[in-house]
Amino acid sequence: MSKQYVNVIVDIVHTAVDRVFQYEVPEELFGKLSLGMKVRIPFGRGNTVRDGYIIGFTEKPDYDPEKIKQVQAVEEEAMPIEGQLIQLAAWMKEHYGSTMIQALKTVLPLKKKMKPVQKKYLVRTVSQEACCELLAVYRRKKQKARVRFLEALTEDEVLPYEAVTQRLRVSPASFRLFLEEGICRLDTEERYRNPVRGLLKKEQTFLLNEEQRAAISGMTASWDGKKETCLLHGITGSGKTEVYMELIRHVIKNGRQAIVLIPEIALTYQTVMRFYRQFGERVSIVNSRLSAGEKSDQFERARTGKIDIMIGPRSALFTPFPNLGLIIIDEEHETAYKSETVPKYHAIETAIKRCRMADAMVVLGSATPSASSYYKAQNGEYLLFQMRSRAKEESMLPSVEIVDLREELKAGNRTIFSRRLKELLKETLDRKEQALLFLNRRGYAGFISCRSCGEAVKCPHCDVSLTQHRDGKLKCHYCGYETEIPKSCPSCGSHYIAGFGTGTQKVEAMVRSMLPEARVLRMDADTTKGKGGHDAVLAAFADGKADILVGTQMIVKGHDFPNVTLVGILAADLSLYSEGYEAGERTFQLLTQAAGRAGRDKLPGQVVIQSYAPSHYSVEAAASQDYESFYWHEILYRRLLHYPPVYHMMSLLFTSKEENAAERMAGKVKEMAGEFEGHFKAETEEAEEQRHGAVEIIGPAKAAVSRINDSYRYVLYAKCEEEQSLLALKEKIEQMEWDRNVLYQ
Ligand code: ADP
Ligand code: ZN
Ligand code: ZN
Repeated sequence: MSKQYVNVIVDIVHTAVDRVFQYEVPEELFGKLSLGMKVRIPFGRGNTVRDGYIIGFTEKPDYDPEKIKQVQAVEEEAMPIEGQLIQLAAWMKEHYGSTMIQALKTVLPLKKKMKPVQKKYLVRTVSQEACCELLAVYRRKKQKARVRFLEALTEDEVLPYEAVTQRLRVSPASFRLFLEEGICRLDTEERYRNPVRGLLKKEQTFLLNEEQRAAISGMTASWDGKKETCLLHGITGSGKTEVYMELIRHVIKNGRQAIVLIPEIALTYQTVMRFYRQFGERVSIVNSRLSAGEKSDQFERARTGKIDIMIGPRSALFTPFPNLGLIIIDEEHETAYKSETVPKYHAIETAIKRCRMADAMVVLGSATPSASSYYKAQNGEYLLFQMRSRAKEESMLPSVEIVDLREELKAGNRTIFSRRLKELLKETLDRKEQALLFLNRRGYAGFISCRSCGEAVKCPHCDVSLTQHRDGKLKCHYCGYETEIPKSCPSCGSHYIAGFGTGTQKVEAMVRSMLPEARVLRMDADTTKGKGGHDAVLAAFADGKADILVGTQMIVKGHDFPNVTLVGILAADLSLYSEGYEAGERTFQLLTQAAGRAGRDKLPGQVVIQSYAPSHYSVEAAASQDYESFYWHEILYRRLLHYPPVYHMMSLLFTSKEENAAERMAGKVKEMAGEFEGHFKAETEEAEEQRHGAVEIIGPAKAAVSRINDSYRYVLYAKCEEEQSLLALKEKIEQMEWDRNVLYQ
């Protein structure tokens, strides 16, 4: 018999061992290994036994066969995954920068050891006649437990074992006797933990409207044909979920499976329920509340064809369906779709890649698509479908007004509640309706802004707001610029310049003193600690146990409150000046979503947006619920300042224990990249032409978090219109002679 070899990736995160190692397969393991399996292998000089993952097979070794070591053992419980997921991992490694083992661990179905699948024991009758005869005997002898058992058995034919011992109270000894006498037999069936059970299927009672039907037929046609990525832009309440479900039905009918990604925060009971009602037991979910065992059970059910639909957050993307046909990404604009850990993949790009390998299709859906996705739809890279009206006829779009907080200040009102909002709050309470007060606050990083003109203090070199640090200085996270807090506003000279410190707690206290009769609930990270805390607060509010709910962005997602008729957005600008080029986009999305919470049902809704910058396009467009207007402003800004999606951007992070080493290495890379760097300002049209394809380098600068675990962190950004140039640069960087003490991502 010829020898067999496997290609293995060793479970050690280090660039030095980030390559394939070959091992010989011992004869006793022939036919027992498959792609993705975890094996034990001797590694390194001391032959320490390590874990590794199989990513390929070969009969011809690339090295001297004499020197190749043998695989020692297989981890029995490891779940083999398809070659496609391994290919996907390889792509993620290339595209996002990571070691192969990090990428593999991201796509592998298991991270922890899987608990064995629970066994279910079933008791069946062997012969109904024998049963009936015995029943008569025991009735005469008045042996109650045995009578109960035999009655149940003649009636149902199949009983779960627990029912026999618990409900029917038959002792194990008597049960064994029945087995020996051949009255019944015991079968086993594999049972997977199912996170949601006991729901009945229910057919929907309404007809799809014209916009929904148009979207469905367009997407179905794409699925039957070239499977182009589709973007479904539908306002809140336009009935996107129904469209997804109809498309999924088509996919399942063709023998394929579907993954539905929903941001964890919006993965509520309500949403999941809608899928269960349509598809029953063929649906499963994964979320962070499931244990590792439960999660792996769900993936196993997917792999073995027990379910057709998997719903979950980002990581559900790697559900090992054997015949994947569709990936839906709902709320596609959410930042949660970008991984925070290496490889820092984006779910959209990765889903598109996976679908290309599997001949499947991606559907993105949102009421406020990311500028990047909308740009691609405009350029014909995605198919665009629009739904502009609410699906329920009786529900209307809310009316929105903007209150200029600068005017409030002039009128002597220094509180965070405008006179108009106070008035409307009182009216709402008088009508016994509910209100949401939304504090648009992301993170706690403070920025400084002027209360007279609304301008935030910005970096002179970058178009981002400076962030106040603990040492009191203002810093730019993009270029490293720092400065003292100015005494007056750089734009208008006003002295009313201050950081925003208002938290939800303070807002709650103010509401209580302003409206003592109102019942107030607060929802933020503090009040929702622990399992189900989040759902508990929302449920209490939905039940009418409070009049006013105060909270951060947690309150604007996923939930329908039919009795909410007033939404107050306390300071629309808070996210506008947060750092990063996406601040305008985030603000627009949050405001639009918050506004969409008012008047979801029959009662008309009213929204008040309070702002120091009421004429900012993000605020204005959100107030008029005008996505297009927002988009065209936003894309102009991105084009002017060379930001994605018009430009591609690559960020490099250098880390080292020794401060200078990381900075020095980043500097070296910058120097090397010099040949890629073009002229920033093109004076003539000709130069403009040449600039296309040239790479701009920004940095090096200290990373936003400049030290973690005693490692210093430096960043370098490269921007270019052509993605190819950046990939070429990345390759060059990988070939550079590297300082061993510096790691980079
Ligand atoms: P979206 O996901 O776009 O915000 P949903 O799918 O949640 O919208 O739909 C909003 C509400 O409208 C849901 O209660 C849904 O059951 C209902 N709905 C959807 N389509 C229709 C329709 N064609 N007719 C009546 N009601 C509908
Ligand atoms: Zn000012
Ligand atoms: Zn800067």
